[in-house]
Amino acid sequence: MAASSGKPSSRLEELLSSSKRVEDLSLTDDEYEDMETISTVLESANATYISSVALPLQDLLTTETSEVQDETLEAILPFLEGNPNGFELNSFGIPKLQRKIHIPFLHHALGDYPPQFAAMDASKPWILYWCLQGLTALGCSVDDYRERVIYTFASCQHPQGGFGGGHGQLPHLAATYAAILSLVIVGTPKAYSSINRSAMYSFLGQMKQADGGFTMAPGGEEDIRGAFCALVTLSLLTLPLELPPDAPARKHGLTSFTDRLGEWIGKCQTFEGGISAAPTNEAHGAYAFCGLGCLSIMGPPKETVNQYLDVPHLVQWLSYRQCAPEGGYNGRTNKLVDGCYSHWVGSCWALLEEAAGPGIFNRSALGRYILSAAQFKKGGLIDKPGKRPDAYHTCYNLAGLSAAQYQYKFDERANGDIGQGALGAPYYWKVDGEWQGDGVWGKVWDKDDIVQLIHPVFVVPWGKAEECRSYFEGKKDL
Ligand SMILES: [Zn+2]
Repeated sequence: MAASSGKPSSRLEELLSSSKRVEDLSLTDDEYEDMETISTVLESANATYISSVALPLQDLLTTETSEVQDETLEAILPFLEGNPNGFELNSFGIPKLQRKIHIPFLHHALGDYPPQFAAMDASKPWILYWCLQGLTALGCSVDDYRERVIYTFASCQHPQGGFGGGHGQLPHLAATYAAILSLVIVGTPKAYSSINRSAMYSFLGQMKQADGGFTMAPGGEEDIRGAFCALVTLSLLTLPLELPPDAPARKHGLTSFTDRLGEWIGKCQTFEGGISAAPTNEAHGAYAFCGLGCLSIMGPPKETVNQYLDVPHLVQWLSYRQCAPEGGYNGRTNKLVDGCYSHWVGSCWALLEEAAGPGIFNRSALGRYILSAAQFKKGGLIDKPGKRPDAYHTCYNLAGLSAAQYQYKFDERANGDIGQGALGAPYYWKVDGEWQGDGVWGKVWDKDDIVQLIHPVFVVPWGKAEECRSYFEGKKDL
């Protein structure tokens, strides 16, 4: 092997103290010599990458957590060092983005489900959203799904506002978020006008709580997902910021949907620096994105994020989520790398960097994890090697890849007059080019591996949120 900084076998010995694991995973020197004839510059580039990653600190105390972490690394390293799936490689020696198998996987996931999936009925809006967003990230048109999407969500809409998981189900903010985003993705006035805005306004008013947060459903749990889903809906539908007259929070002196909200989000920041579902809970990657997303809807991130969060502490916590040498993210302290956090944590950086300058985000390593370890052999993307693909991990791995590949900038002149009213800040983003990087930490994808632009706050195709907002800004009445 050409790599002068150490062969993968010696690197593995350093990484993994268990000799059995080293035996299993490492080739002997002789075996490496045999490979000399087939080794390429590309393969040695992968070895150079592994050699360049800072060693994880190994605690000598063995626990269930340390054991599963070791097992995870054991499962992932062959994918970082080689190409066990036999995918075609790009010019960096990394598997190409396998569009040809991911696209059919997502089309299939939009089809019929067997009776065993009945328990997931309430998740139908999510499955639709993940598939539609995933397909558009891969460059596919979803126009052919428009009529079905409108028809499906018409039956999920509750007469008193909001969307449920299916016909006759109670409204819920998670289902509402997925429904609204799906309708925004397929677009057109027909899709937008299928939403009962005045009932939605009333429903959201019922969710607002006296302490500033939002519940997910009537009488349901109050958490940061509720706040994010509510603000996404308020902003995209251009609903009034004033609470409806019958909103229960008015009895506690609140008059606006954003009253006490920034302070409530601030209380969700934990002693670790990350953001939790609700005050006193544990910090979590997905809730960090919800919190930053909320603040980025309330105003320019530079103002809102700095006003309500301890930013250096959050930067530290987010940077600790990136696993080495895996390159992908985990969602919490002492947890395992998982492809979906490519988005939940990876996409935090665009929002946070706007507030506080360059973050600590290794885009190259994240792209390497997604392309090398998170593509399933038969299509779809996964949590980690050994797991099955699903629409959720496919959507959010691709969104994370997009977050690694592009740079964004907040610019109040970005979209002309769109976003002049309440909660208009998320319409001021513009693309600041593709990220290039440098050397071993440079980009690891070719042009064919680049996914489509995704809105950094709404996680829909670029331009779709603006179309929707523009439509509703033109409406005088609810
Ligand atoms: Zn996951």
